[in-house]
Amino acid sequence: MLLEIDNITLLYGRIQALHGISLQVEEGEVVALIGANGAGKSTTMRAVSGLRPVASGRIRFAGQDITNLRADTRVIRGISQAPEGRGIFPGMTVMENLEMGAYTRRDSAGIQADLKRVFELFPRLEERRRQAGGTLSGGEQQMLAVGRALMSRPKLLLLDEPSMGLAPMLIQQIFTIITEINQQGTTILLVEQNAQQALSRAHRAYVLETGRIVKTGTGEELLHDSAVKDAYLGVA
Ligand code: ATP
Repeated sequence: MLLEIDNITLLYGRIQALHGISLQVEEGEVVALIGANGAGKSTTMRAVSGLRPVASGRIRFAGQDITNLRADTRVIRGISQAPEGRGIFPGMTVMENLEMGAYTRRDSAGIQADLKRVFELFPRLEERRRQAGGTLSGGEQQMLAVGRALMSRPKLLLLDEPSMGLAPMLIQQIFTIITEINQQGTTILLVEQNAQQALSRAHRAYVLETGRIVKTGTGEELLHDSAVKDAYLGVA
C-alpha cells in the first residue's frame, strides 16, 4: 500500500472539515475522490500533501508515518501536488516554473530527462517555455501545474481538479495525459468535479459527503451506481 489514511479529522478554526476519513491508495493505482462542493475533497488532498495539519488520525506513506512531517519533507519522500486553481508562479517563465518543481533534486541528468518527458506530454509548454507563466491561457497554466508537479518525480501525484475551467477538447486531453502518466508508473490521487471522466479513468474511487466517505468501489461500479448517477453524473 502506498498511501494509507486512517481516520483523519481536520479543522479550519472551529469548522470541522473532515470527520474521520480513511482511505487507501495502492502503488500503480489511479484513485478518484468525488463529491459535491465543500465535501472535503481538497481538504483531504491538503492533509496528504501536508499543507494543513490534521487534528487526529494517521497518514502513512510507503509504510512510514508522515502525519507530522512538513510539506517540503513530503515532497522529498515522493508526494507532489498540482493544486486547485493552478498555483503556478506568474512572474517566472514556463521553464523556471518547471525547474522550481525539481528544486528538491540534485540529479541533473534525471531532471533533464523528466523535462523532456513533460515536453513530450505537453508540447505546448515547450513552445512557450520562455513565456511568463501568468500570460499563459487557463488550459496552458493547468498543463504547467501538472508538469511542474511531475518535475519532482513523485511516487504519488495529487491532482486537484485538473479539468477545471478547460474546454471540452482539452478535458479529454488532460485525462488522456493523466492515464499516460499513470501508465508510466506514477500513482495518482485525483479530485474531480467531472465525475464521469474521473470514474471512467480511475481504478477505484471514494465518494465524500460533508467530510465523510459515504461510498467506495471501482470506477466502473460507481459509474453504474444509481445514487452516484443521480447525485454526481447528471443522469437519471
Ligand atoms: P469543491 O469541490 O467546492 O472544491 P471540496 O470538496 O474540495 O469542494 P473543501 O475545499 O475541502 O471542499 O472544503 C471542505 C469544507 O471546509 C467546506 O465547508 C469549506 O468551506 C471549508 N474550508 C475549506 N477551506 C477552508 C479555510 N481555509 N477556512 C475555513 N474553512 C474552509
